[in-house]
Amino acid sequence: MSDITKACRDIKELSPLAQIACNLFLDECKKAGLNVCITETYRPQNRQNWLYEQGRTRAGNIVTWTKNSRHTGRMAWDICKNVRGQEYSDSAFFNKCGEIAKGLGITWGGTWSTPDKPHFEITANWKAPKQEDEMVEQGTIIVDGKECKVDMIRKDGITYIKTRDFANVLGLKVSNKGSIPVLKR
Ligand SMILES: [Zn+2]
Repeated sequence: MSDITKACRDIKELSPLAQIACNLFLDECKKAGLNVCITETYRPQNRQNWLYEQGRTRAGNIVTWTKNSRHTGRMAWDICKNVRGQEYSDSAFFNKCGEIAKGLGITWGGTWSTPDKPHFEITANWKAPKQEDEMVEQGTIIVDGKECKVDMIRKDGITYIKTRDFANVLGLKVSNKGSIPVLKR
């Protein structure tokens, strides 16, 4: 059994959807020059209960207001600034991280009536927002010597063609049977 006094910092212990959200969040923070360190991800219920006891039936300052946390549901993570001595003192740092989270549809604990600035979480219906660096333009491909017009999607230096367009060029019929989220890395 895991030590209830120790925080798990492994992003891979989050739900697959929360892993996508957390990695996107970290990517955006990095792009913005924010030096983020993950301090906790998944929290077993016995650790949540142990933290709840702190400042109540056990000595110390109160650190949590609830026994029902999204950490136990693998949907939340906590951060600090990765600079020794400034881990929690730089409110501008947390505000910038909060802005990035908002842009990604991630809930920031800093917006709550009892703020929890290091805390970020998602709900089960969270969806990754469309990347803004996507560009769609009309292009022409040549298949078997025949020119065909298709949408070309440029993203991260790669040009993509929609499967549906390409199938049409080949005279094939395509329909969508549904999808599941997949981790990017
Ligand atoms: Zn938290």
